[in-house]
Amino acid sequence: MNVDDKKITASPFEFIAGSLSLCFVDTLGGRGGELNERLSCDRDFANWLQAAGLTIALDHGDLDQAKLLRTAIYEVCRAVVSGAEINAFDLETLNRFAVVPPLRPQVTNNGRTEYTAEDPFSAALSTIAEDAINLLSGEFRARIRICSGCQMVFVDKSRPGKRRWCSSAFGCGNKAKMAARRQRAKISRISNF
Ligand SMILES: [Zn+2]
Repeated sequence: MNVDDKKITASPFEFIAGSLSLCFVDTLGGRGGELNERLSCDRDFANWLQAAGLTIALDHGDLDQAKLLRTAIYEVCRAVVSGAEINAFDLETLNRFAVVPPLRPQVTNNGRTEYTAEDPFSAALSTIAEDAINLLSGEFRARIRICSGCQMVFVDKSRPGKRRWCSSAFGCGNKAKMAARRQRAKISRISNF
């Protein structure tokens, strides 16, 4: 599933990580400092799914399970990025979520896609786990990155593959650019004396 360039406005969620599963990981923001939990209740998870384009009737679920999957994907990505061995527990957790049947698409009268499943909550987690597994076993595995500023996980799909920041247009990349500019200005002021 590709959520590239999906711009959601009027939503607390961002979809700038380049894949469904990594956008899900980023529902816990600020891992580099003050945590920003964007999934506080089941409704938040349903809203996130809808914002991601996975409209489904979701009446109940165990949010702790969703967070368990989220942590497992994050930890597996962290190991891949650093070249460390992947923790067996994290890998087993990720694979376990993918075992149950994922969300299935249904077309509506006006041509929109909605999703269905016998157990919508588990199916949604299975769909997210499947996306992570496809990422980890596909051509973009080597392009998984962690922003050096905010620790956001993303997949670098740029042609040169040299993206270091969560977003080049704003956020950490911009902050780093401004800091470099200030540093250069300081050096040139000092060298004027
Ligand atoms: Zn960042």
